[in-house]
Amino acid sequence: MSTTESAKPSGSPKSQPFDPGDPLGIDDLLDPEDLAIRDTVRTWAADRVLPHIAEWYENGELPGIRDLARELGSLGALGMSLQGYGCAGASAVQYGLACLELEAADSGIRSLVSVQGSLAMYAIHRFGSEEQKQQWLPGMAAGETIGCFGLTEPDHGSDPAGMRTYAERDGDDWVLTGRKMWITNGSVAGVAVVWAQTDQAGGGSGIRGFVVPTDSPGFSAPEIRHKWSLRASVTSELVLDGVRLPADAVLPGATGLRGPLSCLSHARYGIVWGAMGAARASFEAALDYAKSREQFGRPIGGFQLTQAKLADMALELHKGILLAHHLGRRMDAGRIRPEQVSFGKLNNVREAIEICRTSRTILGANGISLEYPVMRHATNLESVLTYEGTVEMHQLVLGKALTGLDAFR
Ligand SMILES: Cc1cc2nc3c(=O)[nH]c(=O)nc-3n(C[C@H](O)[C@H](O)[C@H](O)COP(=O)(O)OP(=O)(O)OC[C@H]3O[C@@H](n4cnc5c(N)ncnc54)[C@H](O)[C@@H]3O)c2cc1C
Repeated sequence: MSTTESAKPSGSPKSQPFDPGDPLGIDDLLDPEDLAIRDTVRTWAADRVLPHIAEWYENGELPGIRDLARELGSLGALGMSLQGYGCAGASAVQYGLACLELEAADSGIRSLVSVQGSLAMYAIHRFGSEEQKQQWLPGMAAGETIGCFGLTEPDHGSDPAGMRTYAERDGDDWVLTGRKMWITNGSVAGVAVVWAQTDQAGGGSGIRGFVVPTDSPGFSAPEIRHKWSLRASVTSELVLDGVRLPADAVLPGATGLRGPLSCLSHARYGIVWGAMGAARASFEAALDYAKSREQFGRPIGGFQLTQAKLADMALELHKGILLAHHLGRRMDAGRIRPEQVSFGKLNNVREAIEICRTSRTILGANGISLEYPVMRHATNLESVLTYEGTVEMHQLVLGKALTGLDAFR
């Protein structure tokens, strides 16, 4: 035996089999608790979502959403990385792993969890009074109460500063008037966090957040139908027709756009992971198919052009997962910046949609069928590409950070 061979450490490459599911060995970054959480969520999704998702998607519905929310609550997946008030207090990495597994089933399920935990609960947890937290968070963590988050309006999406929904003082009360659009969970929510202008006369932004029980007179949430994306997700309009709220309905800790934008940053972080779940599911479907589908007398996975697609997809999938881990560790260390979340959201959603589209080509005609998940994931990701900041908004965030020049207007 040569000197070099005898010096080989026990973990030599030969003792480490190549794992096509984890080619870079990223799982080494996870501890046993992380792995247990990931497996629990993966098993739940395999049992409760995957057998039904094609039918839900085709029908454009999420039946049993309240049962699903309670089950997700029992798993600790709602407000998962928040502390106290019945929340699981998990790490950012653990929350990310859950998002990835949920979105590998369907982006609609991950959206339910993101909006509940990272938008509605996060807003109350970070900016709410102690009474608001006590009143709402335990029921939301348990999935007994579903929450929604109303920022976007029919005429104000990427530029919410100009929102028209307003809240006026009437004695001690607040009275809310306006419309919100494209609101996930809206029609099934028991509580809505609604953002509104408060100083119409003063001309400033004066945006404040309000905790609105959805049984308040004047509140309604008609569902938006005929979507070709996120079909297994409830999306709604919010109509606020003189909704009267007590003085303590306002979130005391949030003034201006900083409030909703910090909630969005938290939710975007989950998307950085989630998008890689949709990509992984599509890639796995394509890889399986490539190994079994034969044309010209051999499996299509044996053709160099198919292998090039698979190799390139694997690169982007696992680079994206590494990026998500990196951002998760920064978030856990309290060192993440919004521009870094933009970096992750822009890259991972864009790459995920490309992986779904390329996977679709490997499946040929079968790729357009709901028998396989790839087209469903690809169309879902069209929404994910737009919500929580469009591609262009994140390019502008990064462009501004790189150049110091603001190109938003
Ligand atoms: C399924 C779904 C669920 C959603 N859930 C929620 C929710 O729960 N809560 C919520 O508040 N919102 C939600 N949204 C809304 C979402 O956040 C908005 O759609 C998004 O912010 C973009 O706004 P918009 O659709 O009005 O597009 P616009 O802002 O009108 O943008 C249209 C296009 O113009 C581009 N553009 C705009 N400004 C510029 C510029 N300065 N430079 C270059 N390009 C520009 C945009 O990037 C985009 O490509 C949801 C959307 C969808 C589709």
